[in-house]
Amino acid sequence: MDELPEFSRRCLEVLREPMESGEITITRAQHRVTYPARFQLVAAMNPCPCGYLGDGEHPCRCTPEQIQRYRSRVSGPLLDRIDLHVQVSRLPPADLLTPGTTGESSADVQARVSRCRQRQEYRQGSPNARLSPDLLARVCVLGDSERKSLESAARTMRLSGRGLHRTLRVARTIADLDDRTSIGVAHISEALAYRGSGPQGQAG
Ligand SMILES: [Zn+2]
Repeated sequence: MDELPEFSRRCLEVLREPMESGEITITRAQHRVTYPARFQLVAAMNPCPCGYLGDGEHPCRCTPEQIQRYRSRVSGPLLDRIDLHVQVSRLPPADLLTPGTTGESSADVQARVSRCRQRQEYRQGSPNARLSPDLLARVCVLGDSERKSLESAARTMRLSGRGLHRTLRVARTIADLDDRTSIGVAHISEALAYRGSGPQGQAG
């Protein structure tokens, strides 16, 4: 969904149910039907209506009220269900003209992701994203310092219960990608950074 805030509020809020449960229930006068609806959501939005907030070379001309109004079109509960928030800055023209000279190949990344998924299937028979709260507690056992760092971040960032569980699942996946059996403080910090760097955390 490109330009996420341009979608109607109703359309965005309706997404919350399938994002959470992987199903959608449609109720009409006498009938009620539930369909499978498990999907991966990829969405993009600008930092402000003109798109230049935070740009080093081009000034943003939006007022704080315009920015606030623009961002509030995407509700907190919807953002809470999005696990990875990544800020992307504009690429310099030189990088656009000579792409693909650095970084891993897609084939290497695919192999790493496949290994990570196999590890999850072998351990618990499902991907980390679908761990129930019970299984989550069994699969994501934290040491003392890991638990403390997550608890203190949860308080500072005012994470919801859902946000906390989602952060733990992402930390488990980062540890799996790192080939580790247990979750470390660095995995938790990285998972929290993906949650905290969303559009609402970037004001100014
Ligand atoms: Zn702007």
